Amino acid sequence: MNPYEMACYQLERAAEIAGVKEDVVEYLKVPDRAVEVKVPVRMDDGSINVFTGYRVQHCGVRGPYKGGIRYHPNVTMDEVKALAMWMTWKCAVVNIPYGGGKGGVRVDVKMLSRSEIERLTRRFTAMLTPFIGPERDIPAPDMYTDEQIMAWMMDTYSVYQGYSVPGIVTGKPVSLGGSLGRTSATGRGVAIITRESAKSIGMDIKDADIAIQGFGNVGYWTAKTLFEMGANIVAVSDSRGGVYSEEGMNPDELLEFKRRTGSVVGFTDNIISNEDLLTMKVDILIPAAIENVINASNMSKINARMVVEAANGPIVPKAEEYLNKKCELVVPDILANAGGVVVSYFEWVQDLERYFWDLDRVNAELEKILVKAFERMINVKKEYGNILWRDATMVLALNSVVEALKMRGIFP
Ligand code: NAD
Repeated sequence: MNPYEMACYQLERAAEIAGVKEDVVEYLKVPDRAVEVKVPVRMDDGSINVFTGYRVQHCGVRGPYKGGIRYHPNVTMDEVKALAMWMTWKCAVVNIPYGGGKGGVRVDVKMLSRSEIERLTRRFTAMLTPFIGPERDIPAPDMYTDEQIMAWMMDTYSVYQGYSVPGIVTGKPVSLGGSLGRTSATGRGVAIITRESAKSIGMDIKDADIAIQGFGNVGYWTAKTLFEMGANIVAVSDSRGGVYSEEGMNPDELLEFKRRTGSVVGFTDNIISNEDLLTMKVDILIPAAIENVINASNMSKINARMVVEAANGPIVPKAEEYLNKKCELVVPDILANAGGVVVSYFEWVQDLERYFWDLDRVNAELEKILVKAFERMINVKKEYGNILWRDATMVLALNSVVEALKMRGIFP
């Protein structure tokens, strides 16, 4: 299924549960605006290369559009449309005043020099300038885009306006108006939602054995925060493989080892494969690497009481259906990894006010918003007759978007 068809299918399923009318569903399937732009770049050798860029603004009834920009050779309009729709739901789940947006350039950045990437970023930003803005649409980093790229976007947009506009993007360096706690936000959020989810099935996070696939930004911060909550991190992995320790591992020591050697493999003598990690007996399994890792080939071997989707789409729909029967709980990505966009929202608020928060405030406000979202999702689950968590999360999001749409009405 292409990603846009999948997003439409998920919308239809949630709409059926929530009793949303067909004409509203059709309205929500189509993005408010989808632009395709030409991005010509003068290469280092003097030649011109023309790339294609996209920005999709899915549904702006709850506020300005918000979502990342990815640089990847497989970026398509349908992919960006799906990702923008998912951002609408994610923002609504955590009740932050945004609609979904997403963008990208079809490019293999590994083939470009840093200065070529800078020129590509600046031209792409110039082409998007009529459509974006701190009150309109606020991009952020995604695959193969980082805080330096956000700094170039912010600078280019600001040059056009004639003054500094820090609120045009989030995920900027702190020196340009980025927020403290942004880097850790997604993993910290995963840990908070994991703790609340465990509590709901009578599991104390302090007694929990946890396996985490992927030890990048999200995996490390998830492990570190859960470790600080008292959990036992028994297994971690990266693209080269994984390690196991029955008595648990300290994520900071793991990170130090990975920095020194390039991988977590070898941190303990007990070396495992990624497949071993996914299928081992643990209380909580957290896939935090890439999509589709739990699928028809390994779903029957999953041996965890609870699976938390820290990555985007790590469980294919068929496997999720199976795990919903086998495990006590499957926590969906749009709830589990929403911490990143919440702190992006904090960054934007700080930029608009030109008043910056300390880390304790960022973390405390993140905790408050996520716990509230969790409680709202549980209430929806009960209200609709004990539906699955993913359905409850989608219904929560859909209801809040539909309510805003109803109040605003259709113009003219
Ligand atoms: P990252 O690049 O920092 O880390 C990815 C990790 O996964 C690395 O440790 C890598 O070695 C490992 N990995 C890659 N391929 C693997 C494989 N085949 N098997 C096992 N491990 C593999 O990326 P990240 O920012 O931590 O993002 C991880 C996931 O979380 C992605 O799905 C991303 O879309 C999602 N996500 C990230 C954020 C964020 O703020 N960074 C927000 C929401 C969702």
